[in-house]
Amino acid sequence: MVMRPLKRIRGGGTGHAQRLWPVLLLVTAAAVAPTASVLWFMGEAIRNEELAGRQRLADAYRGQLLSVQASLGDWLREKAQHLQVDVTQNAAVLFEQVVREGAFDSVVVLDGSGQITYPVAAVPDEPGSLTAGALHGAYQLEYEAGEPERAAGVYGRVAEESADATVAARALLGAARCLLRLGYRDEAVEILSRGLQESRFEAATDEQGRLIAPAALMLAIESSPDAVSDVRRRCVETLARHAGEYIDARMPSSQRLFIMEQLQTWQPGVWLPTIEAERLAQAYLARQPRAPMPLQLVPCGGAEMHQFASESGRIVGLLTAERLARETRPLLERAKAADGVVRLLAPGETANPQPLVSLDGGRHLPGWTLALSLPGQDPFAQTARRKMSRYLWAGLLASLLTIGLASVLARYVGRQVQLTRLKNDLIATVSHELKTPLASIRALVDTLLTNGVRPQQTQEYLQLIAKENLRLTRLIDNFLTFSRMERRKHAFEFAPVAPADVAERALEAVRERCEAANGHIEVQIAGRVGELRADRDALVVVLLNLLDNAIKYTGANKRITLSISREGSDVCFAVSDNGIGMSRRAARKVFNQFYQVDQTLSRKTGGCGLGLSIVKFIVEAHGGSVQVESRPGVGSTFTVRIPADEEAPVEAT
Ligand code: ADP
Repeated sequence: MVMRPLKRIRGGGTGHAQRLWPVLLLVTAAAVAPTASVLWFMGEAIRNEELAGRQRLADAYRGQLLSVQASLGDWLREKAQHLQVDVTQNAAVLFEQVVREGAFDSVVVLDGSGQITYPVAAVPDEPGSLTAGALHGAYQLEYEAGEPERAAGVYGRVAEESADATVAARALLGAARCLLRLGYRDEAVEILSRGLQESRFEAATDEQGRLIAPAALMLAIESSPDAVSDVRRRCVETLARHAGEYIDARMPSSQRLFIMEQLQTWQPGVWLPTIEAERLAQAYLARQPRAPMPLQLVPCGGAEMHQFASESGRIVGLLTAERLARETRPLLERAKAADGVVRLLAPGETANPQPLVSLDGGRHLPGWTLALSLPGQDPFAQTARRKMSRYLWAGLLASLLTIGLASVLARYVGRQVQLTRLKNDLIATVSHELKTPLASIRALVDTLLTNGVRPQQTQEYLQLIAKENLRLTRLIDNFLTFSRMERRKHAFEFAPVAPADVAERALEAVRERCEAANGHIEVQIAGRVGELRADRDALVVVLLNLLDNAIKYTGANKRITLSISREGSDVCFAVSDNGIGMSRRAARKVFNQFYQVDQTLSRKTGGCGLGLSIVKFIVEAHGGSVQVESRPGVGSTFTVRIPADEEAPVEAT
């Protein structure tokens, strides 16, 4: 009988899953792609929403910043009023007046050409000046020759003879120095604290441009070891008066500051209201600041000090960064909106974190920035992140759900498609497989019906008809079992069964065919194997299919063994042959529906690739297993294991 090759349809979970994965991939892509696009659009929408929210808030806060800008302007204009003073006055007096008003930490006074007139710089002697020349000899004796006594004499003569007050004062100071070196302290102190304090020496300066009278007092104090002496007290008082007197603008500011600092050490707690302002003014000079612009607050040489010039540009108020921060804080805090913080940033300073909204400082604060930031983590970004993560989770769940549902659907549809294809193939196979034996039977019957057939031939034809009939019956049996199996309609009738009985029935059916083909079947039963609880007819089909295959796929000298044994709780049926065997790869597939290792051979032997899948189905329905061990060209052994009926007594079979 010629078998029509069937398109192979693999049964079982693995084959099904293999064909399902492209569908699943497509479904996954179909579920993930739109979800990802929707998420992307949502992300963009959230970002836009975040930007719009920021913009709305920034617009609301910009009004607040404008009001801060205006208050800062007012504050500086109010400060400017303290700088509106009569600039024709003496610069030192102007300094003291503005500093004492307290609107600024310090003050710098300029003349009409922009030159600084306070702090007053010391003006040293020009090289080779006449004043120095008159005292040249005395200086040489004092400093180079180291002869204080002779130097004191020369100084004394110059002091008496010179009509120039500066020369005389320098000579007296030199004489006092020499007397101190010679140990005539009282005489020296007398010169320093009285002689040099005469009014004609008020303007006398030393070579570095410092006033001699206060310098003499300082020397007198340092030379008076008695801290409570009258002379010393008097000197300190006079010196304090000198330092605090701004009406006399001749004293260089550096000397005034030095005297003030010395006074603080000699007389702790002495009241020197302008000492800090003097210090700051000196620091201002050291920074070499750029020319002040009227009514503009600008940093001078660093972030610690700022200058603010009067409208005329002649008076420059100085503010420390600390004071600026202290005075502007209430103005900035007044504008504090919701939980935002407003900061005033100096030129070049950057806000960290990035401000929500910023504004320039206005006309009086060029280069300054008003920055409003939200403290802590950016609430907009936080909200956006929260929303995005919610959407992501929702998207993920939606995708998983879609994939899950789609895979269930794909499985269902796949199964339906497979069943339909199976049905079609089955119909085609059945009709084809039935046609060949039926045609043979008809031809034989037609021949028998015609006269002239010898009795011996009649017998032969009838045997052939019987053989074809048997083959047809087995074929139909297999198809029916397979059909029931596929529809999961096969009902088994379980009852106590003796394994030997099953083997006997199966052998009965194949023995004749085997012997006809010159084959030999041996049965081996290993002692007590116990009973089975099984569907006897179904188990007969199992052994029948295995034995049938052993006959079909074995060559001329067929040696087939059916052995029954007990392995633990299982009863084993093993069918071995010395046939063509099969490769390891083929052995893994033989239990799939319609699988045939060699279709040409199968066509000859008359099979349709269902026998072993039926075996597997029946065995598994009994809770057992089937496996094959095979070597090409050597033979195969199919082993079926069925759990024994534990309740039945184990006895010899
Ligand atoms: P078929 O009707 O084609 O025999 P089966 O399902 O019974 O279908 O067997 C599937 C295939 O397994 C066969 O076509 C054959 O190639 C191979 N096969 C089965 N039994 C044996 C055996 N004992 N020796 C070698 N090959 C076998």
